Amino acid sequence: MLAGCAVVRLGAGKALEDGARAHLYIVLSGALAVAADSHSGSADGTVSRILPGESVGEQAVLDDSSNLAAISAIVDSELLVIDGERVWKMIDLSSGLARNLLRMLSFRIRAANALLRRRQKLGEFYRQLSMNDGLTGLYNRSWLNDMLPKVVATAQRAGTPLALIMIDLDHFKQFNDTHGHLTGDDALRTAAAVISQALRPSDFAVRYGGEEMLVILPDTTEPLALLVGERLCARMRGAAIFADMRQPLPHVTASLGVAVLAEGMDDSGLVAAADAALYRAKHGGRDRVAL
Ligand code: GH3
Ligand code: MG
Ligand code: MG
Repeated sequence: MLAGCAVVRLGAGKALEDGARAHLYIVLSGALAVAADSHSGSADGTVSRILPGESVGEQAVLDDSSNLAAISAIVDSELLVIDGERVWKMIDLSSGLARNLLRMLSFRIRAANALLRRRQKLGEFYRQLSMNDGLTGLYNRSWLNDMLPKVVATAQRAGTPLALIMIDLDHFKQFNDTHGHLTGDDALRTAAAVISQALRPSDFAVRYGGEEMLVILPDTTEPLALLVGERLCARMRGAAIFADMRQPLPHVTASLGVAVLAEGMDDSGLVAAADAALYRAKHGGRDRVAL
């Protein structure tokens, strides 16, 4: 049945031209490159190589579509071209051929699925990277810049309370100077973990700057926010920090400034209010909560 099929030569770098009708191409010599998704423009460099004995175009034949993928020769190649009608005749005549085609298609679908899963994971990874701080895992400043105006606007519109707690570790420069910067990083991670573990799922913890963290408490009134602040302060005081040798170090304390959203206040006003409260906590002697 293949006796009447043409053998075409495709020079290195040349692309396969698609006619109006679908064809199955079997590589006799050389190699082809199929750029995945080349028509959708998501060039992530994924290229499948089609080597002698392998084929392209079977899917186009089966669903009678013209092949959209860009196929080109990597080196000078020879291809056996089987027109779609002939492929169907062979399928009718040989269940062995049909079985092989099915197996090959199933393999391609699996490969395509794996590629999609990899891309999805990569996308998720980069999304996380852009929202979360690398050291502490808390949300980062750019997430805050994006989200806080929305959270504030929502609270203003709905008339629900909203509280912020600005947290700054006490004498942290000295801690670094005494125990080293890496141990300081451990202390920061511990502080971040203490904070996240003390919050409700609806609250948000952000790394605001170096050793400053910010907690957003939606639906929270002033007395409740003060209570949360006291709890955070106490847990921070009680949290043990371990250096490399698993030797417990002196505990780190924090000062906390609490502010609640007032009528007409915007996000920067709210942050400024929490900052001012933090300043009062520092000047009141540190290791405490202030309004
Ligand atoms: P205060 O009680 O007034 O806040 O004193 P402080 O020493 O904590 O404040 P200061 O602003 O003088 O110093 C902040 C220190 O925090 C200095 C800086 O080295 C440290 N720091 C900021 N970011 C990091 C970090 O990512 N890792 C470590 N290890 N240290 C950090
Ligand atoms: Mg600071
Ligand atoms: Mg500090």
